[in-house]
Amino acid sequence: MTILDGKALSNKIKEEVKSEVQDLQMKKGITPGLAVVLVGADPASAAYVNMKSKACKQAGIYSIVHEMPETISQDKILEILAMMNKNPNIDGILVQLPLPKHVDTTAILEAIAPEKDVDGFHAYNTGRMTLGLESFVPATPYGVMQLLKEYDINPEGKNVCVVGASNIVGKPMSTLLLNANATVTTCHIYTKNLKEHTKNADIICVGVGKVNLITEDMVKEGAIVVDIGINRLENGKLVGDVDFENVSKKCSYISPVPGGVGPMTIAMLLVNTIKAAKLREERERKLND
Ligand code: NAD
Repeated sequence: MTILDGKALSNKIKEEVKSEVQDLQMKKGITPGLAVVLVGADPASAAYVNMKSKACKQAGIYSIVHEMPETISQDKILEILAMMNKNPNIDGILVQLPLPKHVDTTAILEAIAPEKDVDGFHAYNTGRMTLGLESFVPATPYGVMQLLKEYDINPEGKNVCVVGASNIVGKPMSTLLLNANATVTTCHIYTKNLKEHTKNADIICVGVGKVNLITEDMVKEGAIVVDIGINRLENGKLVGDVDFENVSKKCSYISPVPGGVGPMTIAMLLVNTIKAAKLREERERKLND
């Protein structure tokens, strides 16, 4: 069994991003910038935002965090996003989810300029990604694809079972795998007999948020298991959705939690941010030509 080491690969990608940022600064005179919107005081969201800011700083990306109170109105968030859309120092805008219940998440995500949508959640980018066109790809499934690639795992022709079908994890994961010519089965809360689907899979990608959802009996011998889930146990320990101890004995590759998909998500966000900065530079150059 081989561990899909997301931590090691993310460190490699972060180093590449860092040198690309230096290159952009030296050759084009631009510093990529990321603005993060954090609404409310959810400790998990604050921790994720903190990690993202820290990674930006280490890579030389300019980053700002707009912290807003839980009670802020939707109109006020829209107003701030409109300002960020116009701000030439900001290449990427990210709204940390989940948002408070009184805020319409879709309306907020659709208010981000598609060319600054480094999370790839805007319908424009989702549509282009689905069509297999150039777009911003959501960082978590993008990170999974990079992790598979690093270990020479080609999903083409493989039976892949994606467990979880959210707009930010499961659905884009299934789309990317389908675009990579896998035969994809997407399972969710309404799926009857989950095991029937997972047992048939050469690759299982699970992102649900349920401890021990995937057990040894649900995995075929030699399968590749990618655990996207993040769950915090009462003792503070972070675990995924897979019973790692037992499943790892049966599969050929497995991603651990922590140290698997999580660090890849951060790395791909940085990749998306420099991509946005490069596209901005290209647009400006064309305008000036
Ligand atoms: P979500 O709650 O929006 O979606 C959960 C999905 O799981 C839904 O499609 C639901 O139908 C499905 N589901 C729920 N119970 C199920 C069950 N018993 N069997 C099969 N499917 C079931 O969550 P999300 O935002 O997609 O996040 C999913 C998990 O991924 C969470 O643990 C989250 O913390 C984690 N996550 C990790 C990263 C990372 O970087 N590793 C990034 C984002 C989310």
